[in-house]
Amino acid sequence: MLDPLEITVADLEEDRYSRLRLIPWWDQSKLKNAKVMVVGAGALGNEVIKNLALVGVGNILIIDMDIIENSNLSRSVLFRAEDCGRLKAEVAAERAMEINPDINVTWMNADIVNDVGLGVFACMDVVIGGLDNREARLAINQSCWKVNVPWVDGAIEVLHGVARVFVPPDGACYECTMGEVDYRILNARRSCTLLSKEEMISGKVPTTPTIASIIAGVQVQEVLKLLHQRDNLPPISGRGFVFNGLNFDCYLIEYQRKDECPSHTTYQELTAIDGDSCSTTLRDLLNRAVKDLGPGSQIDLEHQLIAALECPECETKENICKPLGRMSRTEILCPACGQERMPELVYSLDGSPGEEHILDMTVRDAGLPLYDVFTARNGWSMTHYVLKGGLPLVFQNSETCR
Ligand SMILES: [Zn+2]
Ligand SMILES: [Zn+2]
Repeated sequence: MLDPLEITVADLEEDRYSRLRLIPWWDQSKLKNAKVMVVGAGALGNEVIKNLALVGVGNILIIDMDIIENSNLSRSVLFRAEDCGRLKAEVAAERAMEINPDINVTWMNADIVNDVGLGVFACMDVVIGGLDNREARLAINQSCWKVNVPWVDGAIEVLHGVARVFVPPDGACYECTMGEVDYRILNARRSCTLLSKEEMISGKVPTTPTIASIIAGVQVQEVLKLLHQRDNLPPISGRGFVFNGLNFDCYLIEYQRKDECPSHTTYQELTAIDGDSCSTTLRDLLNRAVKDLGPGSQIDLEHQLIAALECPECETKENICKPLGRMSRTEILCPACGQERMPELVYSLDGSPGEEHILDMTVRDAGLPLYDVFTARNGWSMTHYVLKGGLPLVFQNSETCR
């Protein structure tokens, strides 16, 4: 119980947060300074964003790649009929700032798997997922683990839902929770590496606004605990809150960390180096790696590039440079015979001859996402770079990915 004498005059001023401040552990300044990324502005994302705005989380970045449709209006408190056809991320950001003009909400119309640099994750205190597919969850999970940022996942279906908290580097991660069925579904998606955006967003799940608000409520409560970092306020790290709205079963499930799980890579620290994506070439980065780690160094990419397309039928090879995730199905077809060409993938650059056409491209022209991380490697030595010039852009609105 809070001793009434401890309530100061400032606490009694009836500002927006005065009732929240009556909570003994509540620290409005922690929330005001917090940076939170919300991935997905669908049914869950709407409720998450609404809650974050109400409690005054000061810096929110919303990531979504869809436009608003009529069918969203039954489950999305932030969208109106006249918003149909507009970007979900943009409208959600506008409405969040109407709810609370004190906060700064920015957005990116982007696909979390391909378009958001790892350095963006590193800027965050917490990441929240409001997603409907395993591929995006896995991408968030691996990114959060690499840069040591906790993330809170939510999943809903009809009247059921689960909220889970994953805290790197030592706890169980999302991939640790995946079973055989999850991998089968994931691999089925991945075997069609060049699915169109339309195909990617099919496989819709029935959801209700009610379960969205229950699970998003739990997610944001866990975020409040993560942001406050108090011993007497532990989040459900490595665990999930499961709620069955049909029979009111609800319980906590504890996930086991799997030592062989491939998602447990954590980078030591990121080194901000001079440059920006518009002027820094991949050769500049390789040269920097050689300077820092010696001859024979290479640059590992977070997002794989397609360096060439080979047609087995015509025996022709076209040099290109495009991230795997941004390649469309029609681009991969051979213009001469119409057959599907074989992509030549590049994960790392070491200056070998097949990379010449890529090395002189700028980071931006190569199609790599904003504020991505480049890992210089030489044997067991490693260092991770981000380009300083990208940082100010992280909290700027972006309709297209940079
Ligand atoms: Zn794991
Ligand atoms: Zn051909």
